[in-house]
Amino acid sequence: MARSVKHSIAILGATGSIGASALDVIARHPDRFGVVALSAQRRWQALLEPIRRFRPAFAALLDPRAARELADAVRRENLPTRVLQGEDGLCTIAALPEVDTVIAGIVGAAGLSPTLAAARAGKRILLANKETLVLGGRLFIEAVRASGATLLPIDSEHNAIFQCLPSTHGGNAAACGVRRILLTASGGPFRVTPLSELAQVTPEAACAHPKWRMGRKISVDSATMMNKGLEVIEAHWLFGAQADAIDVVIHPQSIVHSLVEYLDGSVLAQLGNPDMRTPIAQALAWPGRVDSGVAALDLARIGALEFAAPDVARFPCLALAYAALREGGTAPAVLNAANEVAVAAFLDGRIGFLDIAVACEGTLSRIAARPITSLDDALAADDEARSVALELLRSVHSHRLSA
Ligand code: NAD
Ligand code: MG
Repeated sequence: MARSVKHSIAILGATGSIGASALDVIARHPDRFGVVALSAQRRWQALLEPIRRFRPAFAALLDPRAARELADAVRRENLPTRVLQGEDGLCTIAALPEVDTVIAGIVGAAGLSPTLAAARAGKRILLANKETLVLGGRLFIEAVRASGATLLPIDSEHNAIFQCLPSTHGGNAAACGVRRILLTASGGPFRVTPLSELAQVTPEAACAHPKWRMGRKISVDSATMMNKGLEVIEAHWLFGAQADAIDVVIHPQSIVHSLVEYLDGSVLAQLGNPDMRTPIAQALAWPGRVDSGVAALDLARIGALEFAAPDVARFPCLALAYAALREGGTAPAVLNAANEVAVAAFLDGRIGFLDIAVACEGTLSRIAARPITSLDDALAADDEARSVALELLRSVHSHRLSA
């Protein structure tokens, strides 16, 4: 194999679940990958640990106070790292001339601005932050095209689809003879829980995903299947597929990560153990391959792979996401913001599990979709939807208390 260039990497969201998986793969290949910048929201001690280990030239924290604490610690320990702060700091490290690869692993709408900065700077972007595409799909894809950036999906389903498409797909699956994209979904922890029990499930139960270890927000999204809904929208932007050409199939074993159906009836799939280090390693080494540390797939031990259609009564959030995608404009951003607010309230014990879908539906129906032509349009829709969702949840909550 030809010797490839050494990539200089910035990680947005280095202290999270994606960040940890990425650092694990990177550490296995010091000759191939170097860490130039690491960022997080505010947990500076959690960022100090990988700074000691990888000695990046830059670090950034959203929270200015935490950034000052980190800068003090870096100075005390004589580490070679310059500490930046705020959203500007995050956008700066995403666009550093010394960086060629940006891993977009921030959770939520907060990932949009820094990830867009990476796109405008023409980076190779390993995209985990699906919210970037849900909020700013058109803007982001146009920025990638205009700057010549390279977009490599690491969300496991989209990475699977990417691997099943010809390398020349250019964001237009239909032009490659694709009839349908099939996204697999585990069904989450409540796939077979009696519907009558869902109102009472706890945040801990919702975060106990049967197959994947992930951050708490995406774990709740997997339990409601909003995650799959956001991924339908993500697939639309990544592969130019319309809503009708994207289907979801429940697959509890999480071994088939997604499939692509061609016009001739061929269906290609990517399989592997459920471990994010596989899609991350695939994208880091693309178009080559490196070891990810993931154990070999033992199909004989797994025995059977099951597939089923999603239950629409159990997973109303999935239908909401399809509706938002079909409506277009700001609708997906509104849905995403309402969901972020509702999931935070659920994790905080302020609302019940079923209220998440109620808040999302209520917010979507109260805000008319408008076109998005700038980052400000997307952020304004996000802002408005958060206020509407909060108001709705307050009324749900006070209704509960008085009942
Ligand atoms: P996580 O909660 O474990 O980590 C989130 C990271 O983002 C942390 O480093 C945190 O400091 C940072 N962050 C949070 N809010 C921020 C803000 N306002 N500004 C700057 N940084 C902020 O989340 P995760 O599970 O790693 O998920 C990250 C993203 O990857 C999400 O978009 C998720 O949907 C996507 N994703 C995750 C997985 C997974 O296995 N965890 C799989 C597929 C896709
Ligand atoms: Mg996924």
